[in-house]
Amino acid sequence: MNSNPESRIPNPGLAFSGPDQPSMALIDACVHCGFCLPSCPTYVLWQEEMDTPRGRVYLMKAGLEGRAGMTPTFVSHFDACLGCMACVTACPSGVQYGPLIERTRAQIERHYTRPAGERLFRSMLFSILPYPSRLRIAMAPLVILGPLLRALERSGLLNVLPRRVRSLIAVAPQLTLGSLTTRMPEHTASVGTSRMTVAILTGCVQRLAFAAVNQATIDVLAAEGCTVEAPAAQGCCGALALHAGNIDQARVFAKRNIEVFEHANVDRIVVNAAGCGSSMKEYGELFHDDPAWASRARAFSEKVRDVSEVLIELGDPRMTRHPINARVVYHDACHLAHAQGVRAQPRALLAAIPGVELLSPAEAEICCGSAGIYNLVQPEPAMQLGERKARNIAALAPDIIATANPGCILQIAAAGRRLGHDWKIVHPIELIDRSIKGE
Ligand code: SF4
Ligand code: SF4
Repeated sequence: MNSNPESRIPNPGLAFSGPDQPSMALIDACVHCGFCLPSCPTYVLWQEEMDTPRGRVYLMKAGLEGRAGMTPTFVSHFDACLGCMACVTACPSGVQYGPLIERTRAQIERHYTRPAGERLFRSMLFSILPYPSRLRIAMAPLVILGPLLRALERSGLLNVLPRRVRSLIAVAPQLTLGSLTTRMPEHTASVGTSRMTVAILTGCVQRLAFAAVNQATIDVLAAEGCTVEAPAAQGCCGALALHAGNIDQARVFAKRNIEVFEHANVDRIVVNAAGCGSSMKEYGELFHDDPAWASRARAFSEKVRDVSEVLIELGDPRMTRHPINARVVYHDACHLAHAQGVRAQPRALLAAIPGVELLSPAEAEICCGSAGIYNLVQPEPAMQLGERKARNIAALAPDIIATANPGCILQIAAAGRRLGHDWKIVHPIELIDRSIKGE
Protein backbone atom coordinates (compact mmCIF):
# COMPACT_ATOMS: atom_id res chain seq x y z
CA MET A 1 0.00 0.00 0.00
CA ASN A 2 1.27 3.44 -0.89
CA SER A 3 1.69 5.54 2.28
CA ASN A 4 2.03 8.87 0.46
CA PRO A 5 -1.18 10.78 1.36
CA GLU A 6 -1.07 12.83 -1.85
CA SER A 7 -1.20 9.68 -3.98
CA ARG A 8 -4.58 8.83 -2.44
CA ILE A 9 -6.10 12.03 -3.76
CA PRO A 10 -7.14 11.54 -7.39
CA ASN A 11 -7.35 15.23 -8.23
CA PRO A 12 -6.12 17.54 -5.52
CA GLY A 13 -7.05 20.57 -7.63
CA LEU A 14 -5.57 24.04 -7.57
CA ALA A 15 -4.41 25.09 -4.13
CA PHE A 16 -5.68 28.68 -4.31
CA SER A 17 -8.69 30.22 -6.01
CA GLY A 18 -11.22 33.02 -5.53
CA PRO A 19 -10.76 36.02 -3.21
CA ASP A 20 -8.15 36.39 -0.45
CA GLN A 21 -5.21 34.72 -2.18
CA PRO A 22 -1.66 35.45 -0.98
CA SER A 23 -0.01 38.21 -3.01
CA MET A 24 2.63 37.14 -5.56
CA ALA A 25 4.39 40.49 -5.11
CA LEU A 26 4.85 39.79 -1.37
CA ILE A 27 5.99 36.24 -2.13
CA ASP A 28 8.57 37.48 -4.64
CA ALA A 29 10.19 39.67 -1.96
CA CYS A 30 11.74 36.47 -0.53
CA VAL A 31 15.28 36.00 -1.88
CA HIS A 32 15.66 32.56 -0.25
CA CYS A 33 18.64 33.68 1.89
CA GLY A 34 17.63 31.57 4.90
CA PHE A 35 18.42 34.20 7.56
CA CYS A 36 14.98 33.54 9.05
CA LEU A 37 15.56 29.82 9.64
CA PRO A 38 17.20 29.90 13.13
CA SER A 39 14.35 32.07 14.50
CA CYS A 40 11.60 29.80 13.20
CA PRO A 41 10.35 27.50 15.98
CA THR A 42 9.33 24.69 13.63
CA TYR A 43 12.76 24.74 11.97
CA VAL A 44 14.34 24.67 15.43
CA LEU A 45 12.23 21.59 16.26
CA TRP A 46 12.44 19.62 13.01
CA GLN A 47 15.12 21.09 10.64
CA GLU A 48 12.73 20.42 7.77
CA GLU A 49 12.91 22.91 4.85
CA MET A 50 9.16 22.90 4.17
CA ASP A 51 8.57 23.85 7.82
CA THR A 52 10.62 27.03 7.53
CA PRO A 53 9.44 30.50 6.47
CA ARG A 54 11.39 30.09 3.22
CA GLY A 55 9.84 26.69 2.54
CA ARG A 56 6.34 27.95 3.31
CA VAL A 57 6.77 30.96 1.01
CA TYR A 58 7.96 28.54 -1.68
CA LEU A 59 4.83 26.42 -1.15
CA MET A 60 2.61 29.51 -1.40
CA LYS A 61 4.21 30.36 -4.74
CA ALA A 62 3.68 26.79 -5.94
CA GLY A 63 0.04 27.07 -4.84
CA LEU A 64 -0.46 30.32 -6.72
CA GLU A 65 1.20 28.99 -9.87
CA GLY A 66 -0.89 25.82 -9.85
CA ARG A 67 2.12 23.55 -9.16
CA ALA A 68 0.66 22.38 -5.83
CA GLY A 69 -2.81 21.19 -4.91
CA MET A 70 -4.68 21.49 -1.61
CA THR A 71 -3.40 18.16 -0.28
CA PRO A 72 -2.99 17.00 3.34
CA THR A 73 0.79 17.36 3.05
CA PHE A 74 0.53 20.89 1.61
CA VAL A 75 -1.86 21.93 4.38
CA SER A 76 0.20 20.29 7.15
CA HIS A 77 3.16 22.65 6.60
CA PHE A 78 0.90 25.68 7.11
CA ASP A 79 -0.94 24.10 10.03
CA ALA A 80 2.45 23.60 11.71
CA CYS A 81 3.30 27.32 11.42
CA LEU A 82 2.73 29.19 14.70
CA GLY A 83 2.15 32.54 12.98
CA CYS A 84 4.66 33.91 15.51
CA MET A 85 6.23 36.39 13.03
CA ALA A 86 9.77 35.70 14.29
CA CYS A 87 10.60 35.37 10.58
CA VAL A 88 9.44 38.96 10.01
CA THR A 89 11.90 40.23 12.62
CA ALA A 90 14.72 38.12 11.17
CA CYS A 91 14.14 38.82 7.48
CA PRO A 92 16.55 41.40 5.98
CA SER A 93 14.42 41.66 2.82
CA GLY A 94 11.28 42.82 4.62
CA VAL A 95 9.10 39.86 3.58
CA GLN A 96 5.60 40.52 4.95
CA TYR A 97 4.85 37.03 6.13
CA GLY A 98 1.78 38.11 8.17
CA PRO A 99 -0.62 38.85 5.28
CA LEU A 100 0.84 35.88 3.36
CA ILE A 101 0.06 33.28 6.03
CA GLU A 102 -3.32 34.87 6.83
CA ARG A 103 -4.41 34.69 3.18
CA THR A 104 -2.99 31.17 2.80
CA ARG A 105 -4.93 30.03 5.83
CA ALA A 106 -8.08 31.68 4.47
CA GLN A 107 -7.62 29.60 1.31
CA ILE A 108 -7.14 26.43 3.34
CA GLU A 109 -10.28 27.03 5.41
CA ARG A 110 -12.31 27.69 2.25
CA HIS A 111 -11.03 24.93 -0.01
CA TYR A 112 -9.72 22.12 2.18
CA THR A 113 -11.92 19.58 3.94
CA ARG A 114 -10.34 18.55 7.22
CA PRO A 115 -11.02 15.14 8.82
CA ALA A 116 -14.38 15.08 10.65
CA GLY A 117 -12.94 15.05 14.19
CA GLU A 118 -10.73 18.03 13.47
CA ARG A 119 -13.58 19.96 11.84
CA LEU A 120 -15.71 19.36 14.90
CA PHE A 121 -12.96 20.43 17.32
CA ARG A 122 -12.18 23.62 15.40
CA SER A 123 -15.81 24.57 14.95
CA MET A 124 -16.38 24.06 18.69
CA LEU A 125 -13.44 26.40 19.47
CA PHE A 126 -14.66 29.06 17.05
CA SER A 127 -18.24 28.92 18.20
CA ILE A 128 -17.22 29.48 21.85
CA LEU A 129 -13.92 31.34 22.27
CA PRO A 130 -14.81 34.63 20.50
CA TYR A 131 -18.14 35.00 22.33
CA PRO A 132 -17.69 36.11 25.96
CA SER A 133 -21.25 35.14 26.99
CA ARG A 134 -20.81 31.57 25.66
CA LEU A 135 -17.26 31.39 27.00
CA ARG A 136 -18.53 32.42 30.44
CA ILE A 137 -20.92 29.44 30.45
CA ALA A 138 -18.29 27.05 29.05
CA MET A 139 -15.71 28.08 31.66
CA ALA A 140 -18.08 28.30 34.66
CA PRO A 141 -17.41 24.67 35.78
CA LEU A 142 -13.72 25.60 36.19
CA VAL A 143 -14.60 27.72 39.23
CA ILE A 144 -15.31 24.47 41.11
CA LEU A 145 -13.41 21.88 39.05
CA GLY A 146 -10.22 23.90 38.48
CA PRO A 147 -8.37 22.84 41.66
CA LEU A 148 -9.44 19.20 41.15
CA LEU A 149 -8.16 19.19 37.55
CA ARG A 150 -4.82 20.63 38.69
CA ALA A 151 -4.53 17.89 41.35
CA LEU A 152 -5.33 15.20 38.75
CA GLU A 153 -2.80 16.76 36.38
CA ARG A 154 -0.09 16.63 39.07
CA SER A 155 -0.92 13.00 39.88
CA GLY A 156 -0.44 11.95 36.23
CA LEU A 157 -3.94 10.42 36.10
CA LEU A 158 -4.87 12.65 33.14
CA ASN A 159 -2.17 11.06 31.00
CA VAL A 160 -4.67 8.47 29.75
CA LEU A 161 -6.67 11.22 28.02
CA PRO A 162 -6.06 12.20 24.38
CA ARG A 163 -3.29 14.79 23.98
CA ARG A 164 -5.74 17.49 22.81
CA VAL A 165 -7.97 17.11 25.85
CA ARG A 166 -4.94 17.21 28.14
CA SER A 167 -3.80 20.42 26.42
CA LEU A 168 -7.20 22.01 26.93
CA ILE A 169 -7.06 21.15 30.64
CA ALA A 170 -3.42 22.22 31.00
CA VAL A 171 -4.01 25.73 29.66
CA ALA A 172 -7.42 26.21 31.29
CA PRO A 173 -7.25 29.32 33.48
CA GLN A 174 -7.82 29.31 37.24
CA LEU A 175 -11.15 31.09 37.67
CA THR A 176 -13.13 32.55 40.52
CA LEU A 177 -16.76 33.54 40.55
CA GLY A 178 -15.57 37.14 40.84
CA SER A 179 -13.37 36.99 37.72
CA LEU A 180 -16.21 35.43 35.70
CA THR A 181 -18.80 38.00 36.70
CA THR A 182 -16.77 41.23 36.98
CA ARG A 183 -17.79 44.00 34.58
CA MET A 184 -15.42 46.83 33.76
CA PRO A 185 -16.68 50.38 34.42
CA GLU A 186 -17.74 51.97 31.13
CA HIS A 187 -16.26 55.33 32.10
CA THR A 188 -13.34 56.08 34.40
CA ALA A 189 -12.29 59.67 35.03
CA SER A 190 -8.61 60.58 35.01
CA VAL A 191 -6.86 61.34 38.28
CA GLY A 192 -6.21 65.06 37.94
CA THR A 193 -6.29 66.86 34.60
CA SER A 194 -6.90 64.57 31.63
CA ARG A 195 -3.94 64.22 29.26
CA MET A 196 -5.64 61.84 26.82
CA THR A 197 -8.96 60.07 26.22
CA VAL A 198 -8.63 56.37 25.50
CA ALA A 199 -10.90 53.37 25.01
CA ILE A 200 -9.79 49.92 26.05
CA LEU A 201 -10.46 46.58 24.41
CA THR A 202 -11.63 44.27 27.17
CA GLY A 203 -11.12 41.09 25.12
CA CYS A 204 -12.79 37.67 25.28
CA VAL A 205 -10.61 35.36 27.40
CA GLN A 206 -9.02 38.47 28.91
CA ARG A 207 -12.24 39.92 30.38
CA LEU A 208 -13.23 36.60 31.97
CA ALA A 209 -9.99 34.95 33.02
CA PHE A 210 -7.85 38.06 33.47
CA ALA A 211 -10.32 40.69 34.65
CA ALA A 212 -7.64 41.87 37.09
CA VAL A 213 -5.37 42.75 34.15
CA ASN A 214 -8.13 44.90 32.63
CA GLN A 215 -8.76 46.61 35.96
CA ALA A 216 -5.02 47.27 36.42
CA THR A 217 -4.89 48.71 32.90
CA ILE A 218 -7.74 51.10 33.66
CA ASP A 219 -6.30 52.06 37.06
CA VAL A 220 -2.80 52.80 35.70
CA LEU A 221 -4.09 54.76 32.70
CA ALA A 222 -6.42 56.82 34.91
CA ALA A 223 -3.65 57.40 37.47
CA GLU A 224 -1.37 58.64 34.69
CA GLY A 225 -3.96 61.11 33.42
CA CYS A 226 -6.17 59.26 30.95
CA THR A 227 -9.93 59.37 30.74
CA VAL A 228 -10.76 55.73 30.09
CA GLU A 229 -13.78 54.40 28.21
CA ALA A 230 -14.62 50.68 28.06
CA PRO A 231 -17.54 50.50 25.58
CA ALA A 232 -19.95 47.77 26.70
CA ALA A 233 -21.06 47.02 23.13
CA GLN A 234 -17.59 45.91 21.99
CA GLY A 235 -17.01 42.27 21.00
CA CYS A 236 -14.17 40.00 19.96
CA CYS A 237 -11.47 41.72 17.88
CA GLY A 238 -11.33 38.74 15.51
CA ALA A 239 -7.69 37.86 16.21
CA LEU A 240 -8.24 34.14 16.84
CA ALA A 241 -10.36 33.84 13.69
CA LEU A 242 -7.95 35.86 11.53
CA HIS A 243 -4.87 33.92 12.65
CA ALA A 244 -6.66 30.61 12.00
CA GLY A 245 -7.88 31.49 8.51
CA ASN A 246 -11.52 32.25 9.33
CA ILE A 247 -11.15 35.58 7.57
CA ASP A 248 -14.88 36.17 6.99
CA GLN A 249 -15.62 35.70 10.70
CA ALA A 250 -12.71 38.04 11.52
CA ARG A 251 -14.19 40.72 9.23
CA VAL A 252 -17.59 40.48 10.92
CA PHE A 253 -15.99 41.02 14.36
CA ALA A 254 -13.76 43.81 13.07
CA LYS A 255 -16.68 45.75 11.55
CA ARG A 256 -18.60 45.66 14.80
CA ASN A 257 -15.66 46.99 16.80
CA ILE A 258 -14.86 49.68 14.22
CA GLU A 259 -18.42 51.00 14.65
CA VAL A 260 -18.35 50.77 18.44
CA PHE A 261 -14.97 52.50 18.84
CA GLU A 262 -15.78 55.18 16.25
CA HIS A 263 -18.74 56.06 18.45
CA ALA A 264 -16.43 56.32 21.50
CA ASN A 265 -14.50 59.10 19.70
CA VAL A 266 -11.19 58.73 21.57
CA ASP A 267 -7.52 59.61 20.95
CA ARG A 268 -6.24 56.05 21.34
CA ILE A 269 -7.65 52.53 21.40
CA VAL A 270 -5.66 50.68 24.05
CA VAL A 271 -5.01 46.94 24.01
CA ASN A 272 -3.33 44.84 26.69
CA ALA A 273 -3.34 41.49 24.84
CA ALA A 274 -0.61 41.19 22.21
CA GLY A 275 -2.54 38.97 19.78
CA CYS A 276 -5.55 41.29 19.80
CA GLY A 277 -3.40 44.40 19.35
CA SER A 278 -1.56 43.02 16.34
CA SER A 279 -4.85 42.08 14.61
CA MET A 280 -6.44 45.45 15.33
CA LYS A 281 -3.41 47.22 13.88
CA GLU A 282 -4.01 45.17 10.71
CA TYR A 283 -7.66 46.09 10.11
CA GLY A 284 -6.51 48.43 7.34
CA GLU A 285 -4.93 45.44 5.54
CA LEU A 286 -7.96 43.23 6.29
CA PHE A 287 -10.26 45.63 4.41
CA HIS A 288 -7.79 47.05 1.89
CA ASP A 289 -9.91 45.96 -1.10
CA ASP A 290 -13.30 46.86 0.44
CA PRO A 291 -14.12 50.46 -0.55
CA ALA A 292 -16.95 50.69 2.01
CA TRP A 293 -14.66 49.88 4.96
CA ALA A 294 -11.04 50.52 3.91
CA SER A 295 -10.71 54.09 5.17
CA ARG A 296 -12.67 53.45 8.38
CA ALA A 297 -10.51 50.38 9.09
CA ARG A 298 -7.31 52.36 8.45
CA ALA A 299 -8.46 55.19 10.74
CA PHE A 300 -9.27 52.64 13.45
CA SER A 301 -5.89 50.89 13.15
CA GLU A 302 -4.00 54.18 13.33
CA LYS A 303 -5.43 54.74 16.81
CA VAL A 304 -4.57 51.27 18.18
CA ARG A 305 -1.73 51.08 20.72
CA ASP A 306 -0.45 48.58 23.22
CA VAL A 307 -0.89 49.94 26.75
CA SER A 308 2.91 50.18 27.13
CA GLU A 309 3.10 52.41 24.03
CA VAL A 310 0.50 54.76 25.49
CA LEU A 311 2.26 55.02 28.86
CA ILE A 312 5.53 55.93 27.11
CA GLU A 313 3.69 58.37 24.85
CA LEU A 314 2.22 60.13 27.91
CA GLY A 315 5.75 61.12 28.95
CA ASP A 316 6.97 61.65 32.50
CA PRO A 317 4.94 59.55 34.95
CA ARG A 318 2.74 61.49 37.34
CA MET A 319 2.62 58.77 39.96
CA THR A 320 5.50 57.71 42.20
CA ARG A 321 6.61 54.11 41.73
CA HIS A 322 7.06 52.20 44.99
CA PRO A 323 9.70 49.46 45.16
CA ILE A 324 9.07 45.85 44.16
CA ASN A 325 12.18 43.88 45.08
CA ALA A 326 12.11 40.99 42.63
CA ARG A 327 13.96 39.25 39.82
CA VAL A 328 11.52 39.73 36.94
CA VAL A 329 11.84 37.77 33.69
CA TYR A 330 10.17 39.68 30.86
CA HIS A 331 8.92 37.29 28.16
CA ASP A 332 8.32 38.91 24.76
CA ALA A 333 4.90 37.85 23.45
CA CYS A 334 5.46 37.17 19.73
CA HIS A 335 2.52 39.31 18.63
CA LEU A 336 3.89 42.23 20.62
CA ALA A 337 7.61 41.92 19.79
CA HIS A 338 7.62 40.46 16.28
CA ALA A 339 4.24 41.55 14.92
CA GLN A 340 4.10 45.05 16.49
CA GLY A 341 7.79 45.74 17.14
CA VAL A 342 7.01 46.64 20.77
CA ARG A 343 9.99 45.51 22.85
CA ALA A 344 11.56 48.56 24.47
CA GLN A 345 8.41 50.12 25.97
CA PRO A 346 7.40 47.35 28.41
CA ARG A 347 11.04 46.86 29.41
CA ALA A 348 11.47 50.60 30.09
CA LEU A 349 8.30 50.69 32.19
CA LEU A 350 9.32 47.65 34.25
CA ALA A 351 12.90 48.85 34.66
CA ALA A 352 11.55 52.14 36.07
CA ILE A 353 10.10 50.29 39.08
CA PRO A 354 12.63 50.58 41.93
CA GLY A 355 13.94 47.19 43.03
CA VAL A 356 13.05 45.33 39.83
CA GLU A 357 15.94 43.35 38.37
CA LEU A 358 14.86 42.84 34.76
CA LEU A 359 15.98 39.64 33.02
CA SER A 360 15.63 38.25 29.48
CA PRO A 361 15.70 34.50 28.88
CA ALA A 362 17.87 32.80 26.26
CA GLU A 363 16.17 32.24 22.88
CA ALA A 364 13.83 35.17 23.65
CA GLU A 365 12.82 35.34 19.97
CA ILE A 366 11.46 31.77 19.92
CA CYS A 367 7.70 31.36 20.53
CA CYS A 368 6.48 29.68 23.74
CA GLY A 369 4.04 27.58 21.68
CA SER A 370 0.83 29.30 22.71
CA ALA A 371 0.10 31.09 19.41
CA GLY A 372 -3.68 31.55 19.54
CA ILE A 373 -5.26 28.11 19.33
CA TYR A 374 -1.97 26.44 18.27
CA ASN A 375 -1.45 24.72 21.63
CA LEU A 376 -4.92 23.20 21.27
CA VAL A 377 -4.75 22.06 17.63
CA GLN A 378 -1.00 21.20 17.52
CA PRO A 379 -0.44 20.05 21.13
CA GLU A 380 2.78 18.07 20.59
CA PRO A 381 5.06 20.80 19.15
CA ALA A 382 3.36 23.36 21.41
CA MET A 383 4.29 21.27 24.44
CA GLN A 384 7.91 20.93 23.27
CA LEU A 385 8.20 24.67 22.68
CA GLY A 386 6.54 25.44 26.01
CA GLU A 387 9.00 23.28 27.92
CA ARG A 388 11.94 24.73 25.98
CA LYS A 389 10.76 28.22 26.99
CA ALA A 390 10.20 27.11 30.60
CA ARG A 391 13.73 25.68 30.85
CA ASN A 392 15.24 28.93 29.55
CA ILE A 393 13.19 30.91 32.08
CA ALA A 394 13.98 28.54 34.95
CA ALA A 395 17.71 29.05 34.31
CA LEU A 396 17.26 32.64 35.53
CA ALA A 397 15.53 31.62 38.79
CA PRO A 398 12.94 34.41 38.59
CA ASP A 399 10.63 35.58 41.37
CA ILE A 400 8.07 36.82 38.83
CA ILE A 401 7.51 36.36 35.09
CA ALA A 402 5.88 39.22 33.19
CA THR A 403 4.35 38.88 29.73
CA ALA A 404 1.69 40.82 27.84
CA ASN A 405 -0.51 38.10 26.39
CA PRO A 406 -3.06 35.87 28.15
CA GLY A 407 -2.14 32.88 25.95
CA CYS A 408 1.55 33.16 26.89
CA ILE A 409 0.67 33.40 30.61
CA LEU A 410 -1.37 30.17 30.44
CA GLN A 411 1.12 28.33 28.21
CA ILE A 412 4.21 29.18 30.29
CA ALA A 413 2.37 28.38 33.52
CA ALA A 414 1.38 24.94 32.15
CA ALA A 415 4.91 24.18 30.88
CA GLY A 416 6.40 25.40 34.17
CA ARG A 417 4.11 23.10 36.19
CA ARG A 418 5.18 20.11 34.10
CA LEU A 419 8.80 20.92 35.01
CA GLY A 420 7.93 21.39 38.68
CA HIS A 421 7.74 25.21 38.87
CA ASP A 422 4.78 27.01 40.41
CA TRP A 423 5.58 30.42 38.95
CA LYS A 424 3.97 33.77 39.61
CA ILE A 425 3.16 35.02 36.09
CA VAL A 426 1.62 38.45 35.59
CA HIS A 427 0.95 41.04 32.93
CA PRO A 428 3.51 43.91 33.14
CA ILE A 429 0.66 46.38 33.79
CA GLU A 430 -0.16 44.51 37.01
CA LEU A 431 3.36 45.13 38.32
CA ILE A 432 3.14 48.82 37.39
CA ASP A 433 -0.26 49.02 39.12
CA ARG A 434 1.10 47.38 42.29
CA SER A 435 4.11 49.69 42.25
CA ILE A 436 1.87 52.79 41.95
CA LYS A 437 -0.43 51.58 44.72
CA GLY A 438 2.49 50.49 46.90
CA GLU A 439 1.10 46.98 47.29
S1 SF4 B 1 5.45 32.61 11.61
FE1 SF4 B 1 6.84 31.61 13.09
S2 SF4 B 1 6.50 29.39 12.78
FE2 SF4 B 1 5.60 30.46 10.99
S3 SF4 B 1 7.24 30.48 9.46
FE3 SF4 B 1 7.44 32.42 10.59
S4 SF4 B 1 8.91 31.97 12.24
FE4 SF4 B 1 8.21 29.99 11.43
S1 SF4 C 1 15.01 35.80 5.62
FE1 SF4 C 1 13.37 36.67 4.34
S2 SF4 C 1 14.21 36.66 2.27
FE2 SF4 C 1 15.50 35.30 3.49
S3 SF4 C 1 14.56 33.24 3.20
FE3 SF4 C 1 13.65 34.10 5.05
S4 SF4 C 1 11.77 35.09 4.32
FE4 SF4 C 1 13.05 34.75 2.50
